[in-house]
Amino acid sequence: MLPQIVPRSLDKDMSDILVKYLEMEGIKVVLGKPITKLIGETKVEKACFGDEEIYDADMVIMATGVRAELELANMAGCEIGRWAILVNDRMETSVENVYAVGDCVESKDLILGSNTISQLGTTAVRESKTLARTICGKKSKFNPVLNSMVSKVGKLEFGAVGYTTSFAQQNRIRPVVQKVQALTRARYYPNAKPMDIKVICDGNGTIIGCQIIAEERVAERIDTMTLAITEGLTCFDLSNMEFAYAPPVSMVTDPLILAVEEVSKKFT
Ligand SMILES: Cc1cc2nc3c(=O)[nH]c(=O)nc-3n(C[C@H](O)[C@H](O)[C@H](O)COP(=O)(O)OP(=O)(O)OC[C@H]3O[C@@H](n4cnc5c(N)ncnc54)[C@H](O)[C@@H]3O)c2cc1C
Repeated sequence: MLPQIVPRSLDKDMSDILVKYLEMEGIKVVLGKPITKLIGETKVEKACFGDEEIYDADMVIMATGVRAELELANMAGCEIGRWAILVNDRMETSVENVYAVGDCVESKDLILGSNTISQLGTTAVRESKTLARTICGKKSKFNPVLNSMVSKVGKLEFGAVGYTTSFAQQNRIRPVVQKVQALTRARYYPNAKPMDIKVICDGNGTIIGCQIIAEERVAERIDTMTLAITEGLTCFDLSNMEFAYAPPVSMVTDPLILAVEEVSKKFT
């Protein structure tokens, strides 16, 4: 229904790389239109986008997003935010001795400090550990989130952390953006794969987002960028960072360094 896939994590030009790949694999991607009707006698036979665009279907998988079920929290009298249950950084709700973790709670956004929803397994697990410490009377604090994610479609890994360009703009941040293509191994080494990287900085050069697509080694670079954003590093800081190198596993200038060097040039 939306004009692009993976809209929360990827800019359109990056998600278009995935769409192109899916289409190369024979998968048709229909964007910008809602499914209006499913037709079938004993099982689904057709999916319709309006009256004219009708596709044969053996199976329909609906994956239309996740919304918190708040009935129980409401009954308990817990304070609810814009999307989900409000908790403090010890995972305590507004009602004494009532706690909440996971997809049903709001988290703090690391960059803006405002409330957000994370809805990731990694966040749920970290929140649960914080809650266990809280219940055991130990020191506990859940840190704000950047929603770093990684996934895989066919051969392609894709990952992201922090803000997309449009999310930054919606939040009155003037993004400075650079996209580069590099390789996952030395140029002359067999099986070097292309890696598309997009880095997003704010007007001072502080890194606020990163998106990566490649056939290998995406997660580790997203994790590096998560650490960089968490520590408030700028693209200038990161361009000086040491990265390990050997031809079978990386480039002498790591793709991340290449990306931050290129974005740095926009500030000079
Ligand atoms: C297809 C899919 C893939 C995903 N992949 C990833 C990934 O790769 N990485 C990542 O970080 N996150 C991923 N996620 C997100 C991640 O799974 C969730 O963020 C995480 O599971 C949320 O944890 P939770 O404890 O809030 O909810 P859940 O894990 O959904 O647990 C809720 C539990 O409550 C139970 N329950 C519901 N109602 C009741 C009731 N009335 N009484 C008793 N029990 C009840 C349910 O059966 C369930 O066991 C994925 C999600 C989906 C749907």
